[in-house]
Amino acid sequence: MILPKTNRLSPEQAAELAAIAGEFGCRIQPIVGEVRTIYALVGDERHELMINRLEGLPFVDRVDTIQSPHKLMDIRSDLATHRVRVGGVALGEQLLVIAGQCTIDPANPNFFLETAHAVKAAGAQALRGGVWKPRTNPYSFQGDTRSLEILMEASRLTGLPVVTEVMEPEHLKLALDAGVAVLQIGARNALNYSLLRQVGRAIAGRDTVVMLKRGMHMGPLNEFISAAEYIAAFGNPNVILCPRGTQPGLDGYRNHPDESVTPLLKERTWAPVVIDPSHSVGKAAYVPACAFAAVAYGADGLCIEAHVSPAQGIGDDPKQAVTPAVLSQIITQARAIHALRRSPSPAP
Ligand code: PEP
Ligand code: MN
Repeated sequence: MILPKTNRLSPEQAAELAAIAGEFGCRIQPIVGEVRTIYALVGDERHELMINRLEGLPFVDRVDTIQSPHKLMDIRSDLATHRVRVGGVALGEQLLVIAGQCTIDPANPNFFLETAHAVKAAGAQALRGGVWKPRTNPYSFQGDTRSLEILMEASRLTGLPVVTEVMEPEHLKLALDAGVAVLQIGARNALNYSLLRQVGRAIAGRDTVVMLKRGMHMGPLNEFISAAEYIAAFGNPNVILCPRGTQPGLDGYRNHPDESVTPLLKERTWAPVVIDPSHSVGKAAYVPACAFAAVAYGADGLCIEAHVSPAQGIGDDPKQAVTPAVLSQIITQARAIHALRRSPSPAP
């Protein structure tokens, strides 16, 4: 990773870096941070002569080499000070709450619009709504592109940034053109490297954020962080990690709740962690406890399924969605836990 002396390099300076890297079979990928741009060396960066020549350039401050399978997302990366922002929230400073329906019902758009207003009133800073749905059963409702219009209408009416899942290039294009702020990569696609690459390429040069769910069969945490690296490697480092429970589930819960991976992730990566308690436990009654545990474990945010009338919802909503009243209580108490966690611990 090459750190320039200035906030970003001129095109001529960047070309000089690229020429040197190219001689050694490497290429340069600018990663645009909030304040400055850093230049990732892509390829085998162990050539001593290449490093020396790069460090010898008058406009280069230093070259950091990290031996990590995910060097951009690594906690030792120069991106570690990067702040991912959703709406007005800088993750890591304030607790981000994303809430809304699992699935938007195109036949009942008013439910979603009411849910949107209700989650805003409850204190959520971003709105989720499933337009296209990955369903285990091929005969279940698969989502509907018409719901994208409903999602964006809710965004306009509430002023909330919106989160929706994309599963294929067509969704990606439609979502970006519509102005979706956060693209969700679902648990089933967390290791779909081709999709991860397409998403990374599509968001380069934009301020779009990606929320990457943890695959339900993922084991090693490096696998999760490396999946995030696939996206960031194209130049936009705005990636959020979202554990959402793994399989096999815990008898009684939909999945095995995995909010406890947060401290482990935080030892290895600077990426913000937003926990999804809804899919972890799969039942509305268990969602509050899972959300509180997540914040106690160090989560930077929560993604909660909520619906004005869960029983009349579709997709996961009848089982998992909490009502706005419960959401409001969760948010108040989760913020209190977050504040406690951030207050200095008393002297021993
Ligand atoms: C969802 O968010 O509704 C969803 C399908 O998530 P996951 O990919 O975690 O199952
Ligand atoms: Mn869902």
